[in-house]
Amino acid sequence: MQEIKHFINGEFVGSVSGKTFANINPATNQQIGVVHEGGQPEVDQAVAAARAALKGPWGKMPLAERMALLHKVADGINARFDEFLEAECMDTGKPKSLASHIDIPRGAANFKVFADAYKSVPTESFMLDTPDGKGALNYSVRKPKGVIAVVSPWNLPLLLMTWKVGPALACGNTVIVKPSEETPRTATLLGEVMNDAGIPPGVFNVVHGFGPDSAGAFLTSHPGIDGITFTGETRTGAAIIKASADHIRHVSFELGGKNPAVVFADCDMDKAIEGTMRSVFANCGQVCLGTERVYVERPIFDEFLARLKDAAEGMQLGAWDDECTSMGPLISKEHKEKVLSYYTKAVEEGANVITGGGTPDMPGALADGNWVQPTIWTGLPETAAIVKEEIFGPCCHVQPFDSEDEVIEMANDTQYGLAAAVWTENTSRAHRVAAQLDAGIVWVNSWFLRDLRTPFGGMKNSGIGREGGVHSLEFYTELKNICVKL
Ligand code: NAD
Repeated sequence: MQEIKHFINGEFVGSVSGKTFANINPATNQQIGVVHEGGQPEVDQAVAAARAALKGPWGKMPLAERMALLHKVADGINARFDEFLEAECMDTGKPKSLASHIDIPRGAANFKVFADAYKSVPTESFMLDTPDGKGALNYSVRKPKGVIAVVSPWNLPLLLMTWKVGPALACGNTVIVKPSEETPRTATLLGEVMNDAGIPPGVFNVVHGFGPDSAGAFLTSHPGIDGITFTGETRTGAAIIKASADHIRHVSFELGGKNPAVVFADCDMDKAIEGTMRSVFANCGQVCLGTERVYVERPIFDEFLARLKDAAEGMQLGAWDDECTSMGPLISKEHKEKVLSYYTKAVEEGANVITGGGTPDMPGALADGNWVQPTIWTGLPETAAIVKEEIFGPCCHVQPFDSEDEVIEMANDTQYGLAAAVWTENTSRAHRVAAQLDAGIVWVNSWFLRDLRTPFGGMKNSGIGREGGVHSLEFYTELKNICVKL
């Protein structure tokens, strides 16, 4: 059984307290590893190492050398692609068809893209008139923010963690990662890659553990960190902002969603079905950008629903390494209970269950895993719990609509504002509707098409701030103005 340790100051270390917790494979609920649980001492050590590294070779390293090292990290992930793939799939149960196309390649790309992007970003300068006529020159320079706490979730563990670590390191910061307790493996493997690439000790640190009264809370309330970037549930974001308030830390939050898809009668039906299938069921519905509310214009409602049902019933649930598998399990027993409670609630609230609604029979060892059926409902009012609350499972409610104004109002009637998808072949309508949706990202005739140079983040309760491209630069650096009297 694998022993998973913290990675502090370039070394793998166990917990001072000796406390550990189980690493579970969600496809079987069998224990596959033992994880060391970090507390205050490990967080203190990691913060000390990260602060020292800022003053060491990393802090003094020429830009070109730093960027070259980040390319080596990306190459190191790609060189150990299969190990990362297996680690991610064992932790999450997700099919390798998904992780080999998204999680691992994007995990590597996050280091290259941000290293390349920041080599040539300009800053501003202004000439100022002065009474003596000689003037003054103002110019701004960017400095690393310092030590960044990266608190990440379990749904896309490597991808979402490196989406923060890549730009943070490219900007010259040092980081302490607190991966989700459900998915400790790839962050740990990344420690090995960092050492092999020659990243100096203390630049990248990993402390394992839970949130409250554990590594997550000790890290985010630590006075020695300079910024917190967090991806996870909205209520965890609220806890972190309270914990960090005493030290007035900058935060960047990517939080929950209840994302709509709006399907107009003039859509390309094949594309809309394919995209909606992915956005509802990819990663067993555990994608923050995923669709849980589908609004379909009435003339095509029946046909769309029938085709979505057929496609959902064609999904293959199975082991991560089976080439035929298109959907894995939910992450944990606890999350399965939560999702199933919504399946029950939907029926209690009077939903029509178009497909699914329960648990599948799985063979052999998979029988004990966290499997649920892909599920589609119709017939509920917009006020129903399953239409309002983030479920984070492989399910959606499909609702007919009659006009653009009506659907925009329904789509925006939520506390969240992360993502939306619009399906139409009418270009004017596409622009008009996209502009009116309350979402940080709107896809037209696509879903999860990501350009890492673009702003990413949520409106309303879906987040604070934007990352991606120069927007990550805004969070991971301090901009300083220098005024030179001439
Ligand atoms: P979570 O909030 O339960 O946990 C996320 C991380 O926070 C974990 O590492 C956890 O240990 C840590 N944590 C929990 N409580 C903490 C505390 N009090 N102090 C410090 N750290 C704490 O989220 P999850 O269940 O891992 O992920 C699913 C959620 O993440 C969903 O709500 C989903 O929408 C959201 N998400 C959002 C985005 C986005 O980009 N907006 C991306 C992925 C996931």
